[in-house]
Parts: sequence; structure tokens; C-alpha cells
Amino acid sequence: MPAVLRVALPVPLPSLFDYLPPATGVACVGSRVLVPFGRHKLVGVVVAIGAEAAVGSSRLKQVLRLLDDGALLDPELMQTLAWAADYWLGAPGEAYANALPLALREAKPLPPIGDEYWSLSGAGRSEHDAGSRRGGSKALLDLLAAGALSAQELSERQPGWRDAARRLAAAGLLERSERPPLDRPLPPSLAPQLSDEQQQAVAAVGADLGQYQPFLLDGVTGSGKTEVYLALIEQVLAQGRQALLLVPEIGLAPQTVRRLRERLGVIVEVLHSNLSEGDRARAWLRARAGSARVILGTRSAVFTPLPQAGLIIVDEEHDSAYKQQEGFRYHARDLALVRARALGVPVLLGSGTPSLESLANAEAGRYRTLHLRARPGAIRPPQVQIIDMRAQRLEHGMSPALLGAVADTVARGEQALVFRNRRGYAPVLLCHACGWHAGCPRCDRPLTLHAGRRQLICHHCDYRQRVPAVCPTCGAGDLKPQGQGTERLEEALLAQFPQVPVLRVDRETTRRRDAFEQLLATLRDDQPAILVGTQMLAKGHDLPNLTLVAIVGVDEGLHSVDFRAGERLAQLVVQVAGRAGRARKPGRVLLQTHQPEHPLLRSLLAHGYAAAARELLAERRLIQLPPYSHQVLLRAEAPQREQVDAFLAAAHAALPVNAQLQIAGPMPAPMPLRAGRHRGQLLLEASNRSTLHGMLRSWQLALIALPSARKVRWSLDVDPIDLY
Ligand code: ADP
Ligand code: ZN
Ligand code: ZN
Repeated sequence: MPAVLRVALPVPLPSLFDYLPPATGVACVGSRVLVPFGRHKLVGVVVAIGAEAAVGSSRLKQVLRLLDDGALLDPELMQTLAWAADYWLGAPGEAYANALPLALREAKPLPPIGDEYWSLSGAGRSEHDAGSRRGGSKALLDLLAAGALSAQELSERQPGWRDAARRLAAAGLLERSERPPLDRPLPPSLAPQLSDEQQQAVAAVGADLGQYQPFLLDGVTGSGKTEVYLALIEQVLAQGRQALLLVPEIGLAPQTVRRLRERLGVIVEVLHSNLSEGDRARAWLRARAGSARVILGTRSAVFTPLPQAGLIIVDEEHDSAYKQQEGFRYHARDLALVRARALGVPVLLGSGTPSLESLANAEAGRYRTLHLRARPGAIRPPQVQIIDMRAQRLEHGMSPALLGAVADTVARGEQALVFRNRRGYAPVLLCHACGWHAGCPRCDRPLTLHAGRRQLICHHCDYRQRVPAVCPTCGAGDLKPQGQGTERLEEALLAQFPQVPVLRVDRETTRRRDAFEQLLATLRDDQPAILVGTQMLAKGHDLPNLTLVAIVGVDEGLHSVDFRAGERLAQLVVQVAGRAGRARKPGRVLLQTHQPEHPLLRSLLAHGYAAAARELLAERRLIQLPPYSHQVLLRAEAPQREQVDAFLAAAHAALPVNAQLQIAGPMPAPMPLRAGRHRGQLLLEASNRSTLHGMLRSWQLALIALPSARKVRWSLDVDPIDLY
């Protein structure tokens, strides 16, 4: 009987596909194959080799070509991916598609894993000597005049260099070459003398190297967590093992890469989605070959092969960026734990504002908690104060007390941050004559006024229109912006403080890749300045002269229907507040609100995040919400409401009868209409995870078979982190 290969293919079906082995070569579990699929050819991964086929073998198609001689994915990764696909109800092929860089999902030979180097050509040297170029091109020619540099070195020294390189290469001035990775050890920079708490943390994790153990490193921004990571990575390297460090965003990466390289003196492989596909595949393959010792990456880097794993670190573990919100909805932090267990290594979750999930795990004894309470170098923690906005004369949403504090700060030559988590000029444009407001026709929500671009933009679906000159309903010219976004605050602060630079940092001002870094670089000096921004400003980046953080309005977070809103708000406030007074100067934080008596704000300000989190956890336990229960959310959307309702009703009817299962819905989603599509959901909850998981696969298969499913777009989200 011929063997049958069970192959995971990148299609959204929760099954494997059977093929006959290729004519030449011997396929093994973990190798890639090119197979016929319908009228297409697809690259898949061999998951199992069996003797029996679901379909009679005679009808099976044959693998067209074997792409790898051995296994590209090792047994640990194969096993983890199978587990992940099962847990998050992904299609097996989708899990592999997430794990493999795009370049490795094509029917091509593996790219060489040498380093990409750039150097001047003869013509380039003459051009450099002539000095006729300007801007980025000149900077790049100058950099390379001293000798060839690797792509990574270029990224560190001249962010955004690739555009210039492309131009210059097209003109024949630069040459690109591929060389074996050159561990060009930098002289490692000196580590600071670790504090007692840092030493204890390093000793605790260090003692468990070589075995699985989760740790929660609880320390605010600036408390020295990164120094703990560095000391541990040094130990891991000394043992000849690999360390994987996950960060929530690439925005955090450039600074961290520099710091890691300078301290450790080794190449740091960076894996994130903004990398070119070639670079990504190379980094992945080097990790697989074991030549990459330190790997730094965002969410999808959790799938990096680690044949000599020593340690996995998840920085800012509470960050929602770790959860993929479409397609294969995995959570990288949770997967990091699964991998650490499979690999038999410790996993370190770091945060100044740990997720309630992790706190509950620590409380239950599943994680060991390590605290960093003192901030090295800081005189004392920032002083936080609530400003009651009620019955105050507000200047574009800012109270006299807030403006006074900003004035004092810049008068002392220091910097102030005015924080508002809303882009644009105003969240609503209202007609004072008739009450009309500009709404998104596709979402049924107000459009945000962007004054600079003279546009009304929907922040949910990106619908755009010009700002009308008069009210479209009554014709009055009395259209008034309501509320404040960062753009309006910027304008108001510019008017109030004409002699001080005012910098706005939000997605609009930092659309270019390096604009954010560049904006912040201008603030390193000891000059007075005012920063206005959204949550992009909440993390990373040491601003030593920043001493005041003024939070303008957090009240939306106190009213949200999402049960996680309180947790998010507490995390955001603490993270933003942490930006004040990082260096020697003490910091001050002002929090403007209409609800100064709100218990969450009270407890946060009086007792800090840990206490507020404890109260939130007690609440969750009381009403049996995650992490004390487990949820699965079925989402559906369609052009017509009836289609959504019909599908959800059928999905509801297809549920098994189970007293342990709580069902909420079918109900409209918190945003019932988005981008012209009606949305609804069905929420399943159980206090016991196995109750849920026991029935999910068969329910999913039943949903796929429903006739009404064909008229809707639907998805299942296991452990959803928001209910939208
Ligand atoms: P976190 O990662 O928690 O934000 P970092 O490790 O980046 O904190 O530390 C914040 C700042 O304090 C950095 O500039 C770091 O170099 C410095 N620092 C950390 N630990 C020490 C120490 N033990 N002695 C002196 N400086 C330290
Ligand atoms: Zn009107
Ligand atoms: Zn919209």
C-alpha cells in the first residue's frame, strides 16, 4: 500500500489534505511540498505520513514536487503549530502560513542565509568625492565611503536608507553583495551594577534555565526590566543557547536592537512585519540554523525556530498587539508559554501593568512573580493629581489648572506632554442651528473632523468626505466642532504658548516609518517643548527633560461596554504617567476628568496599578468574567441584517445542550454597522475551559455546513480580547 502524505495547505478549511508521495525524493514530516489543488498549485507542509487515506488512494493526486530534502520545521514547532491551530480553531494551513515567512511559502529554493552587504562602486566613490548628492543619498554615500556595511548596520545608522539605496543602485553607484554572516563582535558595553531587586530577578530566572517555568516580572517603565533581560540573555549566550525577545511594536525595536547589540556584542536578528520578505526569511532561517543567537521580534516572531532555545521573554506582556485580530486569531504571549513548555525553557513576562490574566495566573501559583519596585536613578515616583473638570471654564477642553501647569513647566525650561487618545481636530461636527451632526453613512457613527486636511474621516472604516461649508440639512453656516482631538489641542497650545515648540505625535504626523523617531530625537535636548499626542507616546523612548504629563479626558474609558475597558484605562494611565520624570527631575501627572469620584481612578491614584488591578480582578471573579471564565465569540457580518440574524439563529440552534455553557445572544455587535455591513455576535462562556473546547470543533464544522453561512462573513475567536 502506498504511503499517503497528510498536508496542511494555506486554505481556510479546518482539515488536512491527502496526497500521494512525489515521484522523486522522500518527503518527511515538516518538509514543504508543491501540490495540485483545484486549478491551482499550492505550497503545503507535510504534517503526517500515513498508510490510510480518507479518500480511496486511487483517487488521490500526487505531490508535484518536494521542496525540502529534510524537515524545514522541526518536531517541536510542528507540534506547537498543531496545538495552536487546534486551540484557536485555525485551519492547520493557516497556522503554518503564519509561522513561515512569505518567501518560504513559495515554490522556490531557500534563500541563502548570508548577510546583505552594501558598498560603493567605483562610480559611487567618484560621486562621493564630487559631493554632488544631497539628503539621504549623500548620507548613505558618506556612510559607505568608509567601507561596506550590512543591511542591519545601515538600518541602525540611517533609518529608511533603502529608498536612497535603491536610487543609488539604479544609477550604478552602489553594489549589493551576499556574504556569510560575520559575527563582528562589538566591544560589549558595560552593564550597570544591578540593584538588589534586579539581582534577585536574574538569580531566580537564571536558576531555572534548562527547565520550563513562567515568571512575571512586574516593574514600571524605567524600573530596569531591560537590564534584567540583558543579564539573562548574557547567561543564555554563555551556555551557547538562543534567546527570543518579543516586543509589541516595531516602534520599540530600533532603540532596543541598538541597546542589545551594544551590550551583548553579538548580532541581533530582528523579525517583524515591516521587514522585506527576503530579510525576514533570512532571519528565520538563521534562527533555524542556530546561527542567530538573539532574536528580537513582534507577534509573529513567536514562531521562530529555536533549536537551541534557552529563554523566551515577552516584554509589555499586557499589550493587545500580541493578539492577532483577524484570520488565525492566536495570542503570541500565550503561545510563548506553550513553546517554552515544549522547549523546556523559562519564559519571562515583563510589564509595569500586567494583564489581569497574568496576575490571576501568578495568584494561582502558575507563575512566579518578581518585582522591581524602585526606579534606578529617579528621585521618586511621579506625583499624580486629579483635576475636576466640572464647572470649569475650559479652553479647548483644557482646564486653567492644566494650562497653568504647562506654563510653569515650560517656564522652567522643561517639557510637558499633553495626552489625548483621539486623533483629528474634533470627534464631532455639529450644526448649532438644527442639531445635525456629520455621521458616517456606512457605520452610523460620527465622523471625525480633520481640520488641516479639511476632511471628515470615519475612524472605523476610513470613509472620507470634504467638510461641508454649510449644514446639509438646514443650510445654516453655524457648524461647530465638538470635543477635542490632538490636532485641536495642538492648535490651542500653539496659540497659548507661541514661543515654545509644540509637537504633535499621532498616526497622522508619523505616517512615515521613521518620522516618529525623528520627532522624538528633537526632544532629547534640554529645551522647553510641548508634546501633544495619542497612545503612541505611552511607551518607549526616554525623554529626560519631560516632567509634566497632562491627561486630557479619559472619561470615554469609564463608560465603555467592554468589560476590559477599566483594565485598559488603568494600563494606559499608568504607562503615560510613567513618561514623566524618568531622569533626575521629579515628574508630575495631571488627570482631567468629569468623574473625580470614579472608584477606578480613585484606587489607581491612591494605591497604584497593583491595587486597582486587584479590585478589577475581584470584580471579574464576582461576575465570572475572564480570567475566571473562558469565552469564545462568534462574529458575523453581512450586507443585510436578516442574513446575520438567520446565520446566528442557526448557529445558536446548532449548539449542543450543555448546562455548563452560558450563551449570550445572538445580539448586535457593539458596533452594529461598520463599513456598510451589519454585524452581530454570539458569545459562549464557560467556567471550565474543557467544556468549551470539547464542543468547539464539531460546532465549527456544523457552522461551515450551514446554508446561511454562505451569505455572511463569520469567524470564531477563542479568548477574544475585545468584543467588537
Ligand atoms: P525598563 O525596561 O523597565 O523600562 P530599563 O532597563 O530600560 O527599564 O532601565 C531604565 C533606565 O535605567 C535605563 O537608562 C537603564 O540604563 C537604567 N538602569 C537600569 N538598571 C540600572 C542600574 N542597576 N543602575 C543604573 N542604571 C540602571
Ligand atoms: Zn443644520
Ligand atoms: Zn465608517
